[in-house]
Amino acid sequence: MTSKNKTILVTGGAGFIGSHLCDALLGEGARVVCLDNLLTGRESNIAHLRRDHRFDSIESDVVDPLPYRIAGKARFTHIYHLACAASPPHYQADPEHTMLTCVVGTRNMLRLAEETGARLLLSSTSEVYGDPETHPQPESYRGSVSCTGPRACYDEGKRAAETLAFDFHRSKRVDVRVARIFNTYGPRMRPDDGRVVSNVICQALSGDEITIYGDGSQTRSFCFVSDLINGLMRLMDSDRPIDVPVNLGNPTELTVGDLVERVVALTGSNSPVTYMPLPIDDPRRRKPDISRARELLGWEPAVALQKGLERTIEWFASEQAKSSQQWRG
Ligand code: NAD
Ligand code: UDP
Repeated sequence: MTSKNKTILVTGGAGFIGSHLCDALLGEGARVVCLDNLLTGRESNIAHLRRDHRFDSIESDVVDPLPYRIAGKARFTHIYHLACAASPPHYQADPEHTMLTCVVGTRNMLRLAEETGARLLLSSTSEVYGDPETHPQPESYRGSVSCTGPRACYDEGKRAAETLAFDFHRSKRVDVRVARIFNTYGPRMRPDDGRVVSNVICQALSGDEITIYGDGSQTRSFCFVSDLINGLMRLMDSDRPIDVPVNLGNPTELTVGDLVERVVALTGSNSPVTYMPLPIDDPRRRKPDISRARELLGWEPAVALQKGLERTIEWFASEQAKSSQQWRG
């Protein structure tokens, strides 16, 4: 199928990752419909796409019945199902809705895929591994997840979403792909997103206190958004039958303390560092084993952390300059 024949639904398309995905899909010639309730997404992420006649967007919640413009009418070849708040403070703000988004929302999108014959890619997460006892984490690791803690609405929600996806796949109702996405960063994260990369960069640029939760020795592995988009599209477009989840992330692991040092060095910031309590169930370490993505998709990240941070800092700095100009008049 050529890209010109593709009509693609991107749920969560006004969010951080979703908006970059919309850009890339339009760039390769597809028609794209974004479905988003703007819970954590922003109109400004997709405003530049409004001029493109191949782009359309619908404000709707994936938990609700399908909007009139789609129900029984739209024919999609592919559905990228990304809708779900991804940052701990945002997905914990309304845990019931997060759980329903993962479960009911995914069921609704799987049914839509079944009805229209679309292949569906589910954006799952490294959080399905919880606070892992196996390091790095291969897809075969079944995880160590609390089903009662404050992160459970998201972690268990995504685990249930994977279950639904593979049930639809096994019964041959939908051709499904499942990406387990590890920490991803880049331009278009919200300044108030609450995740560590955006928090630390915004704090460093504005001279505010940099917040480290715990002692900063916990680790993460950060993937630049363009690498992730490339991985998602390869996973969706692969002609190979892929009936297993695939980790997508950058295996370069560092502590939160190291990340802060790098951002401080790149921004030349004088911000003081303040230590705050480690949130409950915060994973101690995380690093993807990407052997499967390498083998099945020929994929691995190309953007080094230094370069990715430079680009992200540049973007946040220009956003801050724009908003202070608006403020001045
Ligand atoms: P984001 O919060 O920027 O984007 C999520 C988008 O989904 C937003 O536009 C939001 O408005 C929309 N949304 C949320 N709930 C919805 C609902 N019920 N109905 C319709 N739209 C809804 O987050 P992101 O970082 O772009 O994450 C996108 C996807 O990738 C999520 O599914 C997330 O779980 C997954 N993911 C992201 C990361 C990461 O590090 N960014 C890591 C693992 C998994
Ligand atoms: N974190 C931090 N300061 C912040 C925000 C987050 O030290 O201002 C920590 C957080 O406790 C976690 C790590 O950074 O250990 C990554 O957090 P993030 O929310 O970005 O992602 P996740 O915990 O979902 O991997």
